[in-house]
Amino acid sequence: MKSNIEAFLDLVKERNGHEPEFLQAVEEVAETVIPYIVKHDIYYGKNILLRMVEPERLISFRVCWVDDSGEIQVNRGYRVQMNSAIGPYKGGLRFHPTVNASILKFLAFEQVFKNSLTTLPMGGGKGGSDFDPKGKSDNEIMRFCHAFMSELFRHIGPNTDIPAGDIGVGTREIGFLFGMYKKLNNEFTGVLTGKGMSWGGSLIRPEATGYGNVYFAQKMLETKGDTIEGKSVVVSGSGNVAQYAAEKVIQLGGKVLTLSDSSGYIYDEEGIDTDKLKFVMELKNVKRGRISEYLETYPNAKFVKGKTPWEVKCDVALPCATQNELHEEDAKTLLNNGCICVSEGANMPSTKEAIAAFHKAKILFAPGKASNAGGVATSGLEMTQNSLRYKWTREEVDNKLKDIMADIHQSCIEYGKDEDGYVDYVKGANIAGFVKVADAMLAQGIV
Ligand code: GLU
Repeated sequence: MKSNIEAFLDLVKERNGHEPEFLQAVEEVAETVIPYIVKHDIYYGKNILLRMVEPERLISFRVCWVDDSGEIQVNRGYRVQMNSAIGPYKGGLRFHPTVNASILKFLAFEQVFKNSLTTLPMGGGKGGSDFDPKGKSDNEIMRFCHAFMSELFRHIGPNTDIPAGDIGVGTREIGFLFGMYKKLNNEFTGVLTGKGMSWGGSLIRPEATGYGNVYFAQKMLETKGDTIEGKSVVVSGSGNVAQYAAEKVIQLGGKVLTLSDSSGYIYDEEGIDTDKLKFVMELKNVKRGRISEYLETYPNAKFVKGKTPWEVKCDVALPCATQNELHEEDAKTLLNNGCICVSEGANMPSTKEAIAAFHKAKILFAPGKASNAGGVATSGLEMTQNSLRYKWTREEVDNKLKDIMADIHQSCIEYGKDEDGYVDYVKGANIAGFVKVADAMLAQGIV
């Protein structure tokens, strides 16, 4: 006899067999949420999870634009409007050659739970394109963003769907997207978040995902009477999330040993301090260079080509690059080297097997949907300020972000604490995220 979980996953596989990342995300949620549904009559027998895995709407469109040599380029654009039970669709746009329906459905599905956890009224969505921003000129980026928005605009709105950034989409891209939306609709609204500070953006939004991840790690360490201070920390990635996670670790007295990009990682035994991080921010955000160029200025560091940084001995690991960047073998290496805490800054960076290894060793492990929720939470705060036509100070936003991360941590404990006292943050985040969305769906009937 098949278990409830197996029967459910078979059905989802039948419908989405060619979508491995989406299935991976659904499997992880099903394994923790179905046992909870079975125990609670209000959710049982209503196919509530089956309804949640089906996007409310999946939009796919053509994006044509002209490159600098005059050639016509064709890309594919998407928006997955996953769930609007607790608020308008909310989630980032990713521009990367790997983008496809599976990746965006997994991200949109995760976003539903993540946004629910933030305590703010936001549904879940995600979008993007297989466009590769690497090596493109500013003008090409602008033409692509304008072309992309010239279709997307009809599907979004400040009370319908509010996109933001993700991999490959930062303040520059949000600016170009916003400009075209404003022109087409002839209205200035908070339809996108991650906006620049002079045109409706929120202070702390650029820092929020990275800072929030470290605030969450701090909360986890606190349960063991520990802190970040004095800890050696391995960070992967070198984009927005990694940069600000590193900044917060340094501010709290931790030692950041690594950063990476798709070509490999840098290992600075002396620690990446504030000045070195400033150099990395300039290198990545302005010059758009490779992380290996760090060595030209800091020759004492090492560059390890083609590898991820998990082989470096550390107390805390912050995977802040991309999905499935930390495998079972990496998890074992981290554990053998004494790592006590892993807090995900990226979305689903650890594979299922890696998570199982962390759980088996009973170390502190936070899934991205809880620990990286600070980004979208601060997007929610940006929306609030836009609606109020008001602007909060840095301190005000940072304090709200800290409170939200503490609330998410508390929800994980409430739903994730096992009988032996170990907190399974994956289970906690999944069930806490599920309950709020499921209650709203049930209240609204079968729609
Ligand atoms: N892309 C970010 C995430 O994965 C932020 C989304 C947003 O701010 O809407 O949560």
